[in-house]
Amino acid sequence: MTEAERRAALEAIADEVRVCTRCRLHETRTKAVPGEGDASTEVMFVGEGPGMNEDREGRPFVGRAGGLLVNLLGHIGWFRDDVFITNIVKCRPPGNRDPEPDEIAACAPYLERQLQALDPSVVVTLGRYSMGRFMPGVRISQAHGTTRVADPATGARDATVFAMYHPAAALRTPAIERESYEDVALIPTVLTEARARRAEHRRSATTAVAEAPTPDPAPTAAPSIPAAESPSSPTPPDAEPAADQLSLF
Ligand code: URA
Ligand code: SF4
Repeated sequence: MTEAERRAALEAIADEVRVCTRCRLHETRTKAVPGEGDASTEVMFVGEGPGMNEDREGRPFVGRAGGLLVNLLGHIGWFRDDVFITNIVKCRPPGNRDPEPDEIAACAPYLERQLQALDPSVVVTLGRYSMGRFMPGVRISQAHGTTRVADPATGARDATVFAMYHPAAALRTPAIERESYEDVALIPTVLTEARARRAEHRRSATTAVAEAPTPDPAPTAAPSIPAAESPSSPTPPDAEPAADQLSLF
């Protein structure tokens, strides 16, 4: 997909979310919060669900937790507009209660389609509920700051998942805030490694196409890219052919 196609796909999903009535959370929301960010980013952040401020504005992470998220990103020289930010459930659970399993399930197709449209190399989960979708069965105290290969059933293809605590938990507990700064500092390296793994995977997938013409060499790990470079920097020019080849399947 071109960037324009990705943006159009994300906007189409957002339009559906804004009028969605698939679960009871639509009854109490002010505005649904589809998510927002750079349509060409390589990194998607997935939080839990909108809070009061998000519900009012229709935008993710605009309250206190959002302030901390912006500070965490600033720690590695990134801005919120460099990435894509969304949530497991797109409407506010009343009184900020935890989302129910049936609400998470009802909302899952939107996240899945956002992942398919954006095709990020890295998915950063914020908090237990988001982590639970991508790293089932692990404990956040153990899994934060670690990566897994994303299950393609989530909608993320050839992606790396990186778990972090929820910024709201970091606001409550200084030790968690410290660990969150340590964790976020790992993201640039996680991204470099995720790009390399994805390129390698897509290269072997394309060369497996029996009669296809020899594809251009897939992008390499880009070791020359500074660790803290913006994730929205243009992907290497030969990244697209590899992706197009894959779409032959
Ligand atoms: N907490 C979340 O999990 N998501 C938001 O968008 C805001 C706060
Ligand atoms: Fe629809 Fe998700 Fe909102 Fe439920 S939380 S009404 S599934 S957009």
